[in-house]
Formats: sequence, C-alpha cells, structure tokens
Amino acid sequence: MSIRLEHLNYVYSQGTAYEKQALKDVSLEIPQGQFAGIIGHTGSGKSTLIQHLNGLLWASSGALYYDGKNIYDNGYPLRELRSQVGLVFQYPEHQLFEVDVFTDVCFGPKNQGLSAEECEARAREALELVGFPEKYYRQSPFELSGGQKRRAAIAGVLAMRPRVLVLDEPTAGLDPKGRDDILEQVAHLHAQTGMTVVLVSHSMEDIARYVERIIVMNRGEKMLDDTPRNVFSHYRELEQVGLAAPQVTYMMHDLKERGFGVRTDVTTVEEA
Ligand code: ADP
Repeated sequence: MSIRLEHLNYVYSQGTAYEKQALKDVSLEIPQGQFAGIIGHTGSGKSTLIQHLNGLLWASSGALYYDGKNIYDNGYPLRELRSQVGLVFQYPEHQLFEVDVFTDVCFGPKNQGLSAEECEARAREALELVGFPEKYYRQSPFELSGGQKRRAAIAGVLAMRPRVLVLDEPTAGLDPKGRDDILEQVAHLHAQTGMTVVLVSHSMEDIARYVERIIVMNRGEKMLDDTPRNVFSHYRELEQVGLAAPQVTYMMHDLKERGFGVRTDVTTVEEA
C-alpha cells in the first residue's frame, strides 16, 4: 500500500489558549514495500504524524492518500483502513491483557469475526513472524521478559494482516541487546513479508542501520527526507538540532552498503 501526504497540517486544541500546531505543511510519499524511518526529537510531531496514518487523527488541512485514494473523501472505507494499517504504539505491552500470549494475539482476528481456526492460524503466523518462541505461547503475557512482551504485542497487530506496519519507538525502555533484537526482527519481518514498514525513533543509531529512507522531523516540519546516505551528508544540520549520531554509525552504514558484514553488537559494546 503506498502512502501520500499532501500539505498536511494538524493543530491540537484549535481555537483555545492551548492551541498547538504539531504538523506544518508535511508532504511525503512512501511507496508500497518501503522500510522507512521517521526520526525527530520528542515533540517534533512524529506521533501526531503516524496517528494520521490510520485515521486516528484527522488533519486540520491537507490530504492523505492510500493507493491514490484520499481518505478524507466521503465514503472512504475507514474501517478497512484501520485493519490495513497496523499501528504499534509505544510500550504496546501495556495493551496485553488476555490469560496467555496466544489468546491475546487471537484477540484482533476474533474481533473481526473470523473463525476460531482462522484466528489460530493468524496468531501462529504472526508469532512466528516476530520470532516468538512456541514454548511461551501459553504463558501469561505478564510473566515474559521485556523483549518477549514487545514481540507478543507486535504479533497482536500482525495477526490482523495489515499491509502497512507503523511502529512508534518499538525499542523504548529495552536494554541494548533487547533493542537490537527487536530491530533485527522488524528488518527480518520486512524482508520476509515485503509489507510497507514505518519505524519511528528518536535515535539516529537505531534508524540508520536498518531503513531504506529517513524522514527527519523538526518542530512539526519535515526537515530532511532521503536515503540514509544522503541524510547523513547533512551532518552539520543534524548536529545543530541534536540529531546526529556518532560518526561510527555512518561508517558502519557505509560498510554495510558496500557489502561488508557488520557486527551490530560492536556498537552496542561501545555504547554500554
Ligand atoms: P513526538 O512524537 O515527536 O514526541 P508529538 O507528535 O507527540 O511529538 O507532539 C508534537 C507536539 O504536539 C508537541 O509540542 C506536543 O507537546 C504537542 N502535543 C502532542 N499531543 C498533544 C495533545 N494531546 N494536546 C496538545 N498538544 C499536544
């Protein structure tokens, strides 16, 4: 599913003393199957932007197209959009609530009215896609490690078989190993399914290693939007807004692009 935003503006609490323009004239296009990253500081508008992607927030002005159709047109099937665009919120494990992981992952498909057999097939497929170990399927979500909880929560969204997966800071609160594991898993998932994936992060190091394209948000505006290599060439501008990663991140990205195997745990050791 391709996504196109045209001159999107969003204002919170419009007309009140708390009015805040969180998105300013944002235009961008994400082609079907792309693995895109959105980076920016806290408050730069990342969450506001992605909540537009499945119609949770409605733009104050502008247009948003999926496969060429404007979702703001009367008659656009919004229900369908919600199932086709899976949004994984920050700390998604807070939404796990069933007695065991498997039942939890079945919840979405069950709610869609699918048969028990189909729900179970979907849950199994989704849990496999995120590399969730079968031995924990019947465990309570609350007994899992942080990384496993997050995998289970992501599987819950995947079980709806979305065509676009949007992840808001999927590594928040995880230790360096857990962070790398989740990002590797998301990259693997993208490679396996070819679905459009949008990864939101405030860390250039997280983003730089995996995505094909980086959208840099700053104060509600799109500041840069290009391949990682071209975005990194704006090192000074990124540094000025505090978003530049250590040079080693760029060197590693360059090596990877040139076909060298890169051990991602090396950066982890340096950071630790
Ligand atoms: P990010 O995800 O990059 O941290 P957000 O999209 O959450 O950024 O926030 C963008 C701006 O909108 C910030 O200035 C934030 O304070 C403001 N904002 C976010 N949510 C609300 C809200 N519910 N009401 C008013 N302002 C908000």
